[in-house]
Amino acid sequence: MNRSPGRPVADVLADLASWRAADPPTHGGRILSYVYDPGRPDLDDVAAEAVRMFLPVNGLDPTTFTSVAELESRIVAFARDVLHGDDGTVGSVTSGGTESCMLAVKSARDLWRAAHGATERPTLVLPTTAHPAFHKAAHYLDLDVLAVPVAPRTGVPAAADVLARVDDRTALVVVSAPSYPFGVIDPVREVAAGVERAGVPVHVDACIGGWVLPWWGGLDDRPWDLAVPGVTSISADLHKFGFAPKGASVVLYRSREQHRAQYFATTAWPGYPVVNPTMLGSRGVGAMAAAWAVLQVLGTSGLAELVDATRRATATLVATVEGIAGLRVVGDPTGPLVAIAADGSTDPVDPFLLIDEVRRRGFLLQAQPAMQQSDGSVLTRTAHLTITPVTERVLDELVATLVDAATAVRGLPPAAPDPSLAASVLSDGLPDDLAVVMATLEALPAEMVRPLLVEVLAATVDPAREGRSGR
Ligand SMILES: *Cc1c(COP(=O)(O)O)cnc(C)c1O
Repeated sequence: MNRSPGRPVADVLADLASWRAADPPTHGGRILSYVYDPGRPDLDDVAAEAVRMFLPVNGLDPTTFTSVAELESRIVAFARDVLHGDDGTVGSVTSGGTESCMLAVKSARDLWRAAHGATERPTLVLPTTAHPAFHKAAHYLDLDVLAVPVAPRTGVPAAADVLARVDDRTALVVVSAPSYPFGVIDPVREVAAGVERAGVPVHVDACIGGWVLPWWGGLDDRPWDLAVPGVTSISADLHKFGFAPKGASVVLYRSREQHRAQYFATTAWPGYPVVNPTMLGSRGVGAMAAAWAVLQVLGTSGLAELVDATRRATATLVATVEGIAGLRVVGDPTGPLVAIAADGSTDPVDPFLLIDEVRRRGFLLQAQPAMQQSDGSVLTRTAHLTITPVTERVLDELVATLVDAATAVRGLPPAAPDPSLAASVLSDGLPDDLAVVMATLEALPAEMVRPLLVEVLAATVDPAREGRSGR
């Protein structure tokens, strides 16, 4: 291979800046998913400073880098206070919600195998609205998923339906607080009470709710965290409403035994004795350091203030959507996530067409395709909004945008599938307007959609595309 000369730093940074400039704006409340902007530049600064300080540290070994043990134990302690754990509660900081969920499943699977032997495949019982991280966990860790239908109107499963799927093979029951698609809280207390006697563990996926619901209010008679007897583990993402940079989440366990079952240790090589608490080997700790710093600067009162702003904006948006002819909010969301569906009127507003109109006006919503559940019922297509503290600052514009966009598409036929689209997306990439793409994905059988999704995403990083070079 030819040697290529190094480039001036300014040039290199200019490339990075130009690529970033093509992204949608990650600050300012215009993207209503993926990013969580507290609207506080001081928090960005302290996070950046913390990341820089910890850039070279390897979290692989907290006995060598004792700073990692300081950070991780303090974050776990903070989370355990907020999520009503007790002295027995322990856990880990992970790289994100997916890893937290997968580790909770790994721990439950290994304890299930220890109790039942490894002859059968254990199961994971979850509502259809549970995050795909659990399907991924089942896929990687060799469990069967038993998905329980939720009520299409409310987005919530009946506790009895969840309990009906629990038996000797159940390694773990998963409930969400709240679920990502519809922002509604599952019947945590009822499910946990139902399985506690059988000793079946229950994981509460509070990846998105864990740093919001504690200050949301109105939940005193609906506990959802470790305060509920029978809840045995919980996940809460620091890189969502903990306002840390991406790469930080916490998973907590009721008992030390569960936490230990998450670890992997081996001496079966001639190198150093390996002990990995999480999925990774070498572990960056920049996001962990930033998460701790942001939590310290905010304190629980700062977090509560940010939640107040988020709740006010959410209430306005829910009222706005309910006042728009042709639209409705799915269920009764608790927390900052809202799903918008077409209502049953003669002039409905198709959520996918709405999303494209809203995008033209400068805001990004997320399309959620319809899905048929195992009982034949259909969860309708929706537009998803994650509201953040900064949403309040663009609220008037967002409200007007939703109203105008709905007016533009009200009564139009819903976006329909286009069978020729698969080929054109593969050759030309995704179009700006996604309504037809989403309608096509919705209509194709899952066995066809999955490879197509993989191909579209893999093509974006294929160096052959558009002649990208390493230089
Ligand atoms: C975000 C999220 C996850 C997964 O988290 P990542 O950080 O994206 O890996 C899991 N569950 C819920 C409810 C979430 O919102």
